[in-house]
Amino acid sequence: MAKPLPPPRPVRATTGDEALIAEAVVVTRLDRAIGWARKYSIFPYPFATACCAMEYMSLSMSPYDIDRFGALLPRFTPRQADLLMVIGTVTMRQAPILKRVYEQMAEPKWVMAFGACASTGGFYDNYTTLPGIDLVIPVDVYVPGCPPRPEVVLDGLMALQRKIQGQKHRLGPEPEQPQAAGR
Ligand code: SF4
Repeated sequence: MAKPLPPPRPVRATTGDEALIAEAVVVTRLDRAIGWARKYSIFPYPFATACCAMEYMSLSMSPYDIDRFGALLPRFTPRQADLLMVIGTVTMRQAPILKRVYEQMAEPKWVMAFGACASTGGFYDNYTTLPGIDLVIPVDVYVPGCPPRPEVVLDGLMALQRKIQGQKHRLGPEPEQPQAAGR
């Protein structure tokens, strides 16, 4: 009895457009490619006011090396930054300044509340401390801790990168951001 024929093997194109697509062209959606580029080229503006700033500094040291995530280079003008890192306690008097800094950043932009004070006011329960920066500006990611360990900050950064990757990225002007509640 004759042996059954083996199933035909797929033939890989070696010439023409099919070969070009197989060997050299990565097909993806444009907004996914823009999201990929944006999440690995974050320029943070450190709005550092208190002790959490020490933890922020350690992020650039070799044990943590935030440069692996494409987010090392701080920009000290909001016009060149796309991530506002609010690091430390924010007082009521600083709140309008924080809002102004946020408004000076170009779209698209993201905000990280770095530590308990920025997220909730921390253990300060008095009339001078802002009980959470989300009363003034929209926040994309909250990093817990007093102070947060650098590993937790990197975890928050990766969560933000996943959020950036999942967002719609337009080539034209960005739509208006929703205003934060409160002031
Ligand atoms: S969360 Fe803790 S370490 Fe950070 S600024 Fe507030 S008191 Fe300081």
